[in-house]
Amino acid sequence: MKDKTVIITGGASGIGAAAVRLFAIEGANVVVSDIDTLNGNKLVEEIRAADGIASFFKTDVSIPEEMEALVKFAVDTYGRLDIAVNNAGIGGEQSPIADMSVEGWQKVISVNLNSLFYGLKYQISAMLKNGGGSIVNITSILGAVGFAGSAAYSAAKHGIVGLTQTAALEYSAKNIRINAVGPGFIDTPLLDALSPEMKSQLIAMHPIGRLGKSEEVAELILWLGSEKSSFATGSYYPIDGGYLSK
Ligand code: NAP
Repeated sequence: MKDKTVIITGGASGIGAAAVRLFAIEGANVVVSDIDTLNGNKLVEEIRAADGIASFFKTDVSIPEEMEALVKFAVDTYGRLDIAVNNAGIGGEQSPIADMSVEGWQKVISVNLNSLFYGLKYQISAMLKNGGGSIVNITSILGAVGFAGSAAYSAAKHGIVGLTQTAALEYSAKNIRINAVGPGFIDTPLLDALSPEMKSQLIAMHPIGRLGKSEEVAELILWLGSEKSSFATGSYYPIDGGYLSK
């Protein structure tokens, strides 16, 4: 990963932060992007203290101009963009469809799906200029199946799979590979709002008998971002402790 530049959105916490650490250990120039300035900057300090290369750039992924500015920052700072991990996302409102607020629906679609279009649009433009790259979109097991109470989240995550496949059809011949990662439930701050009972129920849905760890997902992200996955494009990779096997 030496001399490779990677953008990781939602990089200040959970799966994104684990990916930041892994890419930094592998020698990449890492642009940590998040709305959480405090934790984003803390992580950059941690990486630099370990002789890694990282910068923080505050971005709200639901605002197209900020996504464009993020790509420009990466190119201006490190000269090129090689890898992008579109990871930022929210759980959002949890309610059955008839009770879901229009604002709740729109917020999740905006942060979890519209952001992916903005990301792909500007990242692909930059990668075309340097002859290729790899984009890893973080969806979910709920990009393959539904989950009662999570209509907007599941619709957004299914949408990411469609965007990934279409982008791969459009740009694989231009040497830009685009894949999606679908984690099962992972023990991150995203699940902090859940009661212990709800967490136990979630654990029981995974044949492996536990929630996943951010680091386990980050290993798959790293592989897809690297040249080791050179024949992989347009695919959806669940990493889910067996959740989708039921
Ligand atoms: P997390 O720990 O909550 O981290 C997400 C990060 O994204 C946080 O730093 C959050 O900031 C930031 N963020 C939220 N809204 C943003 C916005 N509009 N623009 C930029 N950054 C924003 O979540 P995670 O569990 O690591 O999830 C990462 C990705 O994996 C998400 O796409 C999620 O849907 C997906 N995923 C997670 C699980 C799971 O069980 N954890 C399972 C499947 C898929 P704040 O903390 O300030 O909000």
